[in-house]
Amino acid sequence: MSSVNTGLQNVDPVVSDIISRENIRQNNVLEMIPSENYASTAVIEAIGSVLTNKYAEGYPGARYYQGNGIVDEAEDLARDRAKALFNYAHANVQPHSGTQANMAVYLGLLKPGDTVMGMQLDAGGHLTHGHPVNASGKLYNFVSYGVDRESEIIDYDAMLEIAKLHRPKLLVVGATAYPRKIDFARAREIADEVDATLMADMAHISGLIAGGAHPTPSGFAHIVTSSTHKTLRGPRGGMILCDQDYARRVDRGVFPGSQGGPMMNIIAGKAVMLSEANTDQFKTYAHETVSNANILATTLEDGGLRLVSGGTETHLVLVDVTPMGLTGKVAAEALEVAGIVTNYNTIPFDSNPPTVGSGVRMGTPAITSRGMGSNEMKQIGELILRVFENYDDSQILSSIRIDVEKLCSEFAAPGVEK
Ligand SMILES: *Cc1c(COP(=O)(O)O)cnc(C)c1O
Repeated sequence: MSSVNTGLQNVDPVVSDIISRENIRQNNVLEMIPSENYASTAVIEAIGSVLTNKYAEGYPGARYYQGNGIVDEAEDLARDRAKALFNYAHANVQPHSGTQANMAVYLGLLKPGDTVMGMQLDAGGHLTHGHPVNASGKLYNFVSYGVDRESEIIDYDAMLEIAKLHRPKLLVVGATAYPRKIDFARAREIADEVDATLMADMAHISGLIAGGAHPTPSGFAHIVTSSTHKTLRGPRGGMILCDQDYARRVDRGVFPGSQGGPMMNIIAGKAVMLSEANTDQFKTYAHETVSNANILATTLEDGGLRLVSGGTETHLVLVDVTPMGLTGKVAAEALEVAGIVTNYNTIPFDSNPPTVGSGVRMGTPAITSRGMGSNEMKQIGELILRVFENYDDSQILSSIRIDVEKLCSEFAAPGVEK
């Protein structure tokens, strides 16, 4: 056991090399996948700690293992900070991911076969909102709502009509590729009309909500689920907030319903993130993320692209690239060659299949974390347009990549070694 305290580079040079190359990549590309971000050095330190060694099945003060006095403090801290930041009576910080958070709520509240209503995947909803290939769609009777064909904004009148027709037990709002604000107040009215529980899945926008750059679901949604690694800049994971009435069912849905031991190192990282997200600096960050998305969107629109829903009110821009004669896949692949990392996506009522898509989804959370602002957004917008105009010219794409790397070198990525 001589290698017990030896570093990764000596113990496993192969994995060590993978990590250092990924470190370089994260420094040298414009990370514009809207669900990605940079966790701080402090968060990374917490998740890389010995707390990973502790088994803590159960909840603070009620564990199935001994020796949990100290890690209980970490979980209590994370729960208290989550409740304070998002203004909810109860928090569960154990879900291993946003998907696990959603499944835990379903397990805690519903019986297999119950009717649930969620946003259609091709309108911007998430797999866990009832897609047939996902457990949610296999276990529950999901019915869906979408966006208006003209405005490409959620059609709340249609949502009400569909709800009246199917009387879901649970109404899920929240999306993964939707650039507009979610009207939680309106969704609650609709839920009340049919006696449904309202669940807000704020995975993408939780950081904007924490920073006051998107309206809060507090006071409207009975239950809120989230990922912790997207706009919140925390460790990869999930969490649930809810009114006190739902606390027991939610907790049981997580453990013993769908998880065993929680990851105490990740929970400590969530606690760190929740304190970082409760600062004036983070408020500024959240607002800049949204204003940056706006500037990017305007630049792209001026250059001849069509913005789904006509614009953005969040961190995310969904562009229809067909006006430039491209498909989403071709466009996103050309962007990657130039060092701009996004993902292709369907757009509402897409005529291309999901494996091709007519859109590219891009976001500003990670580049805003690097400190980039309005000037850089204009510059990046111009670079993206140049990529699209020259998508099949590898020489031009390589020259754009040099501009991208220069820009990246001027703005350090938090938590990523230089
Ligand atoms: C990202 C996302 C999730 C799932 O999060 P994971 O942490 O990837 O499991 C759930 N819902 C929505 C709306 C999301 O965008």
